[in-house]
This record gives sequence, C-alpha cells and structure tokens, in this order.
Amino acid sequence: MPEGDTIAQWADQVRHALVGKRVVRAELALQRRPLAGFDVGSEVVRVEAVGKHLLIGTERRWIRGHVGLHGAWRVGGPSLSGGRQVGVRVEVEDAAVLALRTTEVELTRYVDEVRRLPRLASLGPDLMHEVDLDLVVGRARVVRDRERTLAAVLTDQVVACGLGNVYKSEVCFLSGRHPLTPLDDLEDAELKDAFALGARLLRENRHEPRRRTRQGPGPRLWVYDRAGQPCLRCADAIRVARHTDFGRPVWWCPACQPTGR
Ligand SMILES: [Zn+2]
Repeated sequence: MPEGDTIAQWADQVRHALVGKRVVRAELALQRRPLAGFDVGSEVVRVEAVGKHLLIGTERRWIRGHVGLHGAWRVGGPSLSGGRQVGVRVEVEDAAVLALRTTEVELTRYVDEVRRLPRLASLGPDLMHEVDLDLVVGRARVVRDRERTLAAVLTDQVVACGLGNVYKSEVCFLSGRHPLTPLDDLEDAELKDAFALGARLLRENRHEPRRRTRQGPGPRLWVYDRAGQPCLRCADAIRVARHTDFGRPVWWCPACQPTGR
C-alpha cells in the first residue's frame, strides 16, 4: 500500500528516468489521447513527492498524479506497458513512466513552490521531511468532518501528510493506544509522540525495499493485516475493525492496546 515512503522511492526512480530529458509523449493512457495542454518537446526539470502525490514538472507544466490505495508508479523502457490500468504515461526518448490505477490526474501550470498548487495547498506538513510537530498537533485539534479518533487523524492528510493505512495501525500499536481512542482523550504530548513515531517510521523506510516497523526475525509489521494471528508481544489474537475511517480497516491487539486507558 503506497504511503509517503513508497511515493518518495517512486519519485527517485521517476526523477532518474525523466529529469533533463525532453518529453516525446504524454497521455492519459486509459483514454489513449494526449494530455490536453501539455507541451510535447518540453524538458522535464523536476520530480517531487508531496505526501501521496507525485509531480512531474516541465518548464511550463506540472503533471500531478495520485495512485490511491491500490495503484503504483512504474518506470521502464519506452515500450513499457501497463495494460488497461494505466492512468498516465510520460515518455522520453529512452524511458517511460506509468501511473497505474490513478485516482487523480491533473495538469497545471508550473509554479516553483508546489505547495501553492490548489490540490496541495490544504495538505498538512509532509512527515517525510523535518516538520514542526506542534503545528501538526494544532492542526489535529481543529479537524472537523471526520471521526475524531487517533486512527483517523493519523491518516488525515490535511493534518499531516504521508501516513496511510499500514502506519496507522502500526503507530497505534507502538503507542500502546487503541486506534479508536477519541482525540479528546489524548494529551497533546501523546498526539505529538504518535506523529513523531509515524514520521520516524516513514523516514526509516525511505530507502528500504520492504516496509518494516519491527526488527528481528519474523513478521516485518506488528499488527497490520494480521487479524486472528498472535500478537508478537503478548500472543493475544490481533483484531480488525472495518467500520472505521471511511471503511478502511484498522488492526490492533486488545491486550496491548486496551480501550479507556
Ligand atoms: Zn499484544
């Protein structure tokens, strides 16, 4: 599942393949039509990752893509094919970049500061980078229109961006907190520690081929996708709830993460 660390790795690959080269083709591949308004022949000057968004910048345009929960970015030779799942295709003379199963694609004018792009302006600080965590806690406190639980706020990209469904469960476990703990039951310091932990995990996995929140032999993750299996600390059975955070599941250990603490 792509989270901030994965996007950063994809951005590295895309940057390596495209920057300094001229675009020979750019299209919304699913529709087999050129990306309207894009200047073929322009040079790719920058590739950026912001939270879960990946941006390809030419001299005059940004292409922004978001691959959601199930998509991916792929880099290969000019003949690279992604079949029917391709949302965006950008081709240079010796390479092609595909975004598969995109949930958002946008072409905008180029601005130096990508955070000024409309869709990115509302995002919170990117936890892949050094951020002011007091500011993040402040943003968490004014969140509206969402379940006000620890699990929900960790993945709220308006509060801070980068964390997704895997880290949501892992951070709650490592914090010893039930994921459905109401935000109002958490001290600022606890909330700050939870985001600090999430940021640390994202950065530790920045260059790892396989995401890991747990060291040593055995599973790489503590609770994510381990429903019914024994907790790696206490052997109690891991649980999952699917009716939270807009239907995205969350996993926890009922013994290590009791409610009402
Ligand atoms: Zn446990």
